[in-house]
Amino acid sequence: MKFSEISRPETIRSICREKVPGWHVMSEEQIAIDQICEGLSNQLFKVYVDTDSVQNQCVLFRIYGKDVATLYDQDLEISIFQTLSKYQIAPKMYANGEGWRIEEWHHAVPLKTRYMRNPSILTQVASQLGRFHKLSTRADFPRHILELKPASIRRMNTWADGCKEAADKLRKASDVESNRQLTALGVDELIEEREWLKTFILADDPGICGSGLDIVFAHNDVQENNILQTHYGLRFIDFEYSSMDYQAYDVANFFCECMYDYTFGQYPFYITSLSDFPSEWDQRLFCAIYLSEYLESVVKMDDPAVSRLVDRVQRFTLVSHYLWAIWSVIRAPQACTFNDFDFLHYAKARWDGYKRHKTLLLEKKGKTSEITGGGLVSRPSSVMRSGGGVSTNVTIAALVGVVALLALRR
Ligand code: ADP
Ligand code: MG
Repeated sequence: MKFSEISRPETIRSICREKVPGWHVMSEEQIAIDQICEGLSNQLFKVYVDTDSVQNQCVLFRIYGKDVATLYDQDLEISIFQTLSKYQIAPKMYANGEGWRIEEWHHAVPLKTRYMRNPSILTQVASQLGRFHKLSTRADFPRHILELKPASIRRMNTWADGCKEAADKLRKASDVESNRQLTALGVDELIEEREWLKTFILADDPGICGSGLDIVFAHNDVQENNILQTHYGLRFIDFEYSSMDYQAYDVANFFCECMYDYTFGQYPFYITSLSDFPSEWDQRLFCAIYLSEYLESVVKMDDPAVSRLVDRVQRFTLVSHYLWAIWSVIRAPQACTFNDFDFLHYAKARWDGYKRHKTLLLEKKGKTSEITGGGLVSRPSSVMRSGGGVSTNVTIAALVGVVALLALRR
């Protein structure tokens, strides 16, 4: 990815000196800059001064990645960031301009991949996510965000089109290695798959609140580098893909991300560990905590609500693999960032992950339908979904649920 002239240290220093509250009294020599290498999309700098005489001693200077227009709407991203800043979830924004912004610095370190399945971390992420997914029920949640269609489905269309364009562009550039990688990937098959996937993830909807298909405000990129560990708990950052989406997507994405470590210092600059996908026990623990927060009631690990969510999350695991596979093809011609992350290599890893998971899932579904006759077992004691969000009238909703289910079963 190309970055603009703004990334010159003297430019960053001069913008920060002018814009960060209190820094105009500093000389440019007093302003230090370190580049941060964890992100894959933007160019980031820690900018700081070594004095107690100002209130903010450290800020984050972000230069947006170029060519991101295929991936998300930049104006919407700013408005989402500002909303989350107002809610004190995203960092404060001190200033912004063409292609850059200055953010509050969080004194924290990103989570390490190897800690993601530690029950202490797993449960904190689950509970944070349950809380995050309730944001869109706030009375002051902006309408223009609430009205967005689920990002998973939208992106399956727009990103797959972008993926095709990017693949054509790469083929024309006639780089032998890229062509070999694209052939191995099987781009046409990848793009065609979206139609089946769209149907599969939404099929057999029990219509019950918390079963994975509630449309909520979702983070859409829950992974270790976007979770900071602070002294007072975990904190999500990086909301550039955040949008309305099915709640199962974020959970599935976090599960998938347990297998990928992007801090690996050698080619292809990430490492895959398939055995780190959360076990069934981990998945149930995560979903029980998530639902206890999201539904604001005690949900134990053996509750049928947990089974329903786990089932939907398993379907959405395919969406996570799929979207990051096509995202990575889109990013390939825009490479490279400041490390040499191999986007086509990663696209193949995620597409292989997709195929492997699909085979397992269909085998499992085949076995389940032999036992149950195919239908999903729904519980009358659950709250029926009423267009997203959490219903509070449990008794009435449960009665409505029973009637609706009886009607459906005829
Ligand atoms: P990208 O979109 O490129 O992934 P992120 O916003 O996720 O960028 O940031 C990448 C890394 O930069 C994070 O993993 C974290 O280490 C650091 N970082 C980002 N924002 C902040 C912040 N406000 N304060 C401190 N560190 C941050
Ligand atoms: Mg990030």
